[in-house]
Amino acid sequence: MLILDVAVPCPLRRSFDYLPPSGITAAEPGMRVLVPFGNRRLVAVVLGCKNETQVDHAKLKPAIELLDTQPTLGKDLLALAQWASNYYHHPIGEVLQQMLPVRLRKEKPARDQMEPHYRLTEAGREALASDSLGRARKQAELLDWLSHQQAASRSTLKQNGFDYPQIKALVDKGFIEAGDAAAMPVTIAEGKTLNPEQQHAVESIAAHAGKFQPFLLQGVTGSGKTEVYLQAIEHCVKQGKQALVLVPEIGLTPQTLRRFEARFPAQVSVLHSGLADGERLSDWQRAGRGDCSVVIGTRSAVFTPFNSLGLIIIDEEHDPSYKQQDGFRYSARDIAVKRAADHHCPVVLGSATPSLESLHNVQQNKYRHLLLNERAGGAQPPTIKLLDIRNSELNNGLAPDSLTAIGETLGKGEQALVFLNRRGFSPLLQCHTCGWVGQCDHCDVSMTVHFGRRQLRCHHCDAYKPLPDVCPDCENHSLTFKGPGTERLEQTLKGAFPDTQVIRIDRDTTGGKSAMSELVSTVNEGKPCILVGTQMLAKGHHFPLVTLVVMLDIDGGLFSPDFRGAERAGQLLTQVAGRAGRAERPGTVLIQTHAPDHPILATLLKQDYSPFAERLLAERKQLGLPPCSFTAVIRAEANALEACDRFLQAVRRDTGMPGNGNQFLGPLPAPITRKANRYRCSLILIAQDRKQLHALLNRARRAAEPLKPGFALRWTIDVDPLEW
Ligand code: ADP
Ligand code: ZN
Ligand code: ZN
Repeated sequence: MLILDVAVPCPLRRSFDYLPPSGITAAEPGMRVLVPFGNRRLVAVVLGCKNETQVDHAKLKPAIELLDTQPTLGKDLLALAQWASNYYHHPIGEVLQQMLPVRLRKEKPARDQMEPHYRLTEAGREALASDSLGRARKQAELLDWLSHQQAASRSTLKQNGFDYPQIKALVDKGFIEAGDAAAMPVTIAEGKTLNPEQQHAVESIAAHAGKFQPFLLQGVTGSGKTEVYLQAIEHCVKQGKQALVLVPEIGLTPQTLRRFEARFPAQVSVLHSGLADGERLSDWQRAGRGDCSVVIGTRSAVFTPFNSLGLIIIDEEHDPSYKQQDGFRYSARDIAVKRAADHHCPVVLGSATPSLESLHNVQQNKYRHLLLNERAGGAQPPTIKLLDIRNSELNNGLAPDSLTAIGETLGKGEQALVFLNRRGFSPLLQCHTCGWVGQCDHCDVSMTVHFGRRQLRCHHCDAYKPLPDVCPDCENHSLTFKGPGTERLEQTLKGAFPDTQVIRIDRDTTGGKSAMSELVSTVNEGKPCILVGTQMLAKGHHFPLVTLVVMLDIDGGLFSPDFRGAERAGQLLTQVAGRAGRAERPGTVLIQTHAPDHPILATLLKQDYSPFAERLLAERKQLGLPPCSFTAVIRAEANALEACDRFLQAVRRDTGMPGNGNQFLGPLPAPITRKANRYRCSLILIAQDRKQLHALLNRARRAAEPLKPGFALRWTIDVDPLEW
């Protein structure tokens, strides 16, 4: 009798036995199968076939339908899923579901989605040369853009701001034509002549082709890391292999994409969360067939199938967005390293500000260190100055010296950037008469004032309410704004420099699809202007005319209760500072602080990121914190704090003594204890090595599972958590 071993997307940490669907006599691992589960129908994945089962035959149900004729997930991805399920102590069914593109999580059979690629025709080339498109400006732009590429898919065109109606209009006119991607010629555009450090990096990576070897490529912004990626990929592609490039959520900018597409025309697939499900599926399948040489994508692209994977790049490897923060809490960076090991290929982790985890791995000789100390193209490093703002009169957060410096920069015809990692108008609304503050009704946080929208908004849940004119408690006209956000800074700067354009870049101003690229191109037109923004400004975008960067409120990170606070503050500072003076013009960075003597700031400024990071790493070692220890968090979430606490106390008790110098911390209430009306507690496990951590987690799981804490309580495991 044939029995299917099936991973069903449900929170249970096991697989399930089913009879095959009627008429089916064979199935392969990795095929999708529709199964009855309780009173639902779920798309599940076949893990294997067997001849017997422990399940009572009367209870064994037949699956409804086999959805694939070939495995959707190959052996390598299935094995990776099993590994990740064990490593992250997460149910295999949910892990596999995360791996599948959304389209394939549905009941439909997987049809191969071939996406056409468009290229210029001879008529199109003539039309371009004779400028005959006249007022169809967008079509002319598309034609021009395409003339610099071999070919491009619809999603690539969309990425670059072109819509389907424009494509169709040009096809109808005969100026462009659609073809099969696989039939497009593989060409590689010429790269730059590398400097010796870059050369060494590329050669080291290329020398490890076909072997597993992680590299940490450390170089400041502008030192030419991307150029190293491109040439390392070139080696890989020339050997007929594919490369995977991971970038952080906000790092996948049109500028970055264009560089890859220009170098590997018609060979780049893009995978990110903004794509329509169909586009995502077609690029996913294209990579699996081997019809593209380069896949560039955000976190979940780490699960892309490949025909022959030869190289993995993880740009900005320190970026927290590589860690999924809900459900299956995986780290795309760490999974990428595991994938490279499975595929016997090199993996390059690039950053100006490497994570302490990766630096630790260098110290342990697990990763090779490649350094780029010079700025490519001859750009000068910026001058960094601390601005002691103790006792100084601030204008909505801006010190007089900062305003003077901005004025001087504009006077020279250059651009200034003001960085504050807090969007909205003000983080707190308070009544000066009675002390009322605008709190979220559902979370333990104050609501942020959004002045333009006349709203109070909670940045931790979706709650918002109208901005009151008078105090809701005492009805006096005494409401005051405490502290600035980017919206308020924008207003202040407009007041101080009425003749200058002030451009704000944060999540509120870049909501629309093309909003960001429009803002960026306005800046790069080159007129003197002031940019105001959050960390969206710190990544990926090039602003060659910015010569002054002013950073407000770095102190928050220095004195953060989070043990990673200082690391993050140093990374942010270095990244933002890297925005100053990228071109020929030298830049200046002003850091406003109340703690000019803070040892961490001092190390960072006097020396560099590396000594700073070494210092932090030594501290972590002393305190037994990650990466010098191994941690996991069991989190509980319920309608009452006591319920969470009681549950985690019981887990701790039933797990028994951790032993061997391992320890429990907590249960402790989460830093923001109530979020969206749910109370949250954490039990932290700290172990001396990974093996002991997993043994401890297995015991904790066995302790937790029978506790049946009730319907209203949910608990999760987070391995290698970013926060406790
Ligand atoms: P990073 O990725 O480290 O920020 P990039 O690779 O983007 O650095 O390089 C910064 C700038 O220097 C880019 O404009 C790039 O085209 C240029 N560049 C990089 N390497 C070279 C080189 N070897 N010769 C000339 N220009 C280079
Ligand atoms: Zn009041
Ligand atoms: Zn809230």
